Amino acid sequence: MSPEPILRLEGVSKHFGEFTALDNINLEIDEGEFLTIVGPSGSGKTTLIRILVGIEELSEGKIWLRNNRIEEMPANQRPTCMVFQSLALFPHKSVGENIEFPLKLRKQKPDQRKSRALELLDLLHLPQSFYDKRINECSGGERQRVALARALAFDPEILFFDEPLSALDFRLRKNLEKELKDLHQRTGKTFVYITHSLEEAMVMSDRIAIMRSGRFEQIAIADEIYARPVSRFVAEFMGEVNLFSVSGDAGGNPVGTEIEIQVRNTSLGSSMKLSKGASATLMVRPETVHFLTGDETADFVVGGVLKAEYALGSRTQYKVEADNGDELAVEKLREDRFLGQVGDRVRLGWNAEHAHMISGG
Ligand code: ATP
Repeated sequence: MSPEPILRLEGVSKHFGEFTALDNINLEIDEGEFLTIVGPSGSGKTTLIRILVGIEELSEGKIWLRNNRIEEMPANQRPTCMVFQSLALFPHKSVGENIEFPLKLRKQKPDQRKSRALELLDLLHLPQSFYDKRINECSGGERQRVALARALAFDPEILFFDEPLSALDFRLRKNLEKELKDLHQRTGKTFVYITHSLEEAMVMSDRIAIMRSGRFEQIAIADEIYARPVSRFVAEFMGEVNLFSVSGDAGGNPVGTEIEIQVRNTSLGSSMKLSKGASATLMVRPETVHFLTGDETADFVVGGVLKAEYALGSRTQYKVEADNGDELAVEKLREDRFLGQVGDRVRLGWNAEHAHMISGG
């Protein structure tokens, strides 16, 4: 049985004067889910979260928390909590006082508050000795953990995160991404997270929602979005990709309208068929494109010249210029790297199972 949605949005819009920041959003978030909203700057992510926690009013639409409408409920009565990049901790107070702040508001007794704060320090992998440390004596990563502990002290049903890791350095961010995912599993709470970083979204989330100009372009699990994006926009947003404009030939196979793509297999399967003259975009990710050697072949083949090679640590990335001048990307694990040289004429190939057809040109 699939879990019940904890939060349901129906037709949510937000206008700032003439400008529409959110355009008729529908969304269901499941109980206990980790949903990440990604999208370019200005696509409406923060506006949506602000509406969900109640610090911004919507212009139209309905929001249900389980069976109750909450769009008019004041922020302090909603069982939600927001964790910001700026954290909003009290810098001169101790870690303990910061974590206990929500419990104090609820008039809990000091000994109960302290024991909960110590529990939360453990949960966030902070030493109990931090209880008396002042916030302005903590590092960026430690502060982030304190902010999380304080958010959990509110005991909200849903935690909203607005780019909480974006100010941290790379290594710390990577560690905290994994810790957040782990924290999500251990607490069983519903997490809604916004970020610019696709990698962050892929590491942590159950589902990813891709936002564009105030609407969701696609909502699905990470693998689905990566392998079967619904649009060029999503495909490009989800990392390096090769996209080819194609149209259907007399046999229903896709042929390139810009780059010459040879179809070597005339029975590609229904997902690759296009009616005659119909246009579409053929997508293939760089890691599934191969350098063909000798008389080796594949379902799709493109010729070109190797233009550049970039070592990326465990992987190597190649740029190949097709005969029409467009560039293709290929990526190989270091141990499978291409043994030719820049300037070599190459043949690239990939099979239908790794290709994806996006309808429309
Ligand atoms: P970023 O990733 O840069 O934080 P975002 O996706 O979170 O972007 P929002 O902050 O939600 O985007 O903004 C969406 C759009 O709404 C932007 O074009 C922004 O300029 C506009 N907007 C947001 N708040 C207001 C406001 N109070 N008045 C007018 N326009 C606003």
